[in-house]
Amino acid sequence: MGGHSHVLDDPAPRLERLSERGSSRPSIMDLTMPSSSRRRASQAWDAFSQGRWWRPLLALPKALYGLAVMAGVGAFYAQWVGASIAAVLWLAGSLIALARPGERWFLEMSKWRPIQLETEFGTGVRDELEAVVGKPQLTAYDFYVIDLDLPTALAVGGHSIGVTTLLLDLYRNDRILQEHVVAVLLHEMGHHHRGSIRFAALETYLVLPWTWTRILIKALTAGAAEALRSSVVAVVFLGLALTLALQVLQVLVRPHLVLVVTTATVSASAVLLLAALHGSLSRAEELRADAFAAAHGYGPSLIAYLQWIDHNAQETPPSWWSRLARSHPPIGERITHLEQLLG
Ligand SMILES: [Zn+2]
Repeated sequence: MGGHSHVLDDPAPRLERLSERGSSRPSIMDLTMPSSSRRRASQAWDAFSQGRWWRPLLALPKALYGLAVMAGVGAFYAQWVGASIAAVLWLAGSLIALARPGERWFLEMSKWRPIQLETEFGTGVRDELEAVVGKPQLTAYDFYVIDLDLPTALAVGGHSIGVTTLLLDLYRNDRILQEHVVAVLLHEMGHHHRGSIRFAALETYLVLPWTWTRILIKALTAGAAEALRSSVVAVVFLGLALTLALQVLQVLVRPHLVLVVTTATVSASAVLLLAALHGSLSRAEELRADAFAAAHGYGPSLIAYLQWIDHNAQETPPSWWSRLARSHPPIGERITHLEQLLG
């Protein structure tokens, strides 16, 4: 679920109950093959793209960067010994993110608040989910609420499903109904179903230094931009600093110009390619999660919910790049896909 959506406007219409659902609940189909374009791809590729390994594999460069940063911090204090100890401790920490209690701890650290479904949504949602997927399946999940202004839910790791505060508000204000919440939660269970996000918590952990670096660079860039806007001294100072940096870089680079340019080009292309590949695999995965909800009789409810979101949340028109790298298909594509599944 998700995309770039706004807070839903207040006068937005409420979602009406669907009369078709329940009366004609489709049987559980084999919905592992999502689209015709995939069908042409080789079986090996299908197995890979539908499996649990593509996410960690694509995150490997960022994870290696994380390991290097941690080892670097260790080296700062005690050279090789420090680097080795820091690297081992960092990797050992990843074991925590793989176990269920560790996953809970990790998510609570990330401000996910554990909830009981029946306390937040009343018994209806839980009873319905129990009827659809069965009690043992349902108890395999931990539920959380996350402060997020998107009408959605998220699945993480082996056991966790988070609903956003906005989704909860919409339900409490009767803007959406039980069947829509159940449809959204079934979509998230679809992500868990074949373990496709089994290593998501681990991945989040291992790429933390990468995430921190990104946040830091963003803050520095924003800070520099702000300084440049407000002060002439900052413009002069940053201009001098930039010139100096370029000169140092030139002295360092000149003897190895070809090597440096080639490495930079190859790495930049690889980063873009990986991001595009990640987007494409992730979008296919989203359609499979939708199919899981459809297979459990909640296709029409999910369609109604997506249509409502599409109608009430402004989606910013994506750039060519975000079309390639986006993790979710456009809402229209998801609705068409669900309609095809329902025949
Ligand atoms: Zn999803």
